[in-house]
Amino acid sequence: MSDCLFCKIISGDIPSNKVYEDDLCYAFYDIDPQAPTHFLVIPKEHIRSVSQVDEHNAATVGHIFAVIASLAKKLGLDSYRVVSNIGDQAGQSVHHLHFHVLSGRDMTWPPG
Ligand code: 5GP
Ligand code: ZN
Repeated sequence: MSDCLFCKIISGDIPSNKVYEDDLCYAFYDIDPQAPTHFLVIPKEHIRSVSQVDEHNAATVGHIFAVIASLAKKLGLDSYRVVSNIGDQAGQSVHHLHFHVLSGRDMTWPPG
């Protein structure tokens, strides 16, 4: 999608600090980290949020979770949190599906 920030990051039109890339997904460090380690994993296909996950794209989302587990191992993350905000009230500011991976500090529950 031409006016989507994360589509522009995938295409390289906007620079990012890449963690990992394959045919289906792209991972990069968050520009405003909320933990010592904070990266985002996104599908290359433009999907608005978890609310648009369906039988056609669910395999991509499953693949993203396998990538998250693999990256966490590779980066030596023993404990981490995976978060996806859906919609404005939950705090979604970029409307391209993304999973935050946060690690390296104590975290509270429930989240704010
Ligand atoms: P959301 O608020 O939608 O759950 O998460 C969007 C995330 O994207 C935020 O954590 C924000 O810091 C991050 N972000 C926004 N713009 C950029 C950017 O240009 N580059 C990078 N690396 N992260 C961004
Ligand atoms: Zn997009």
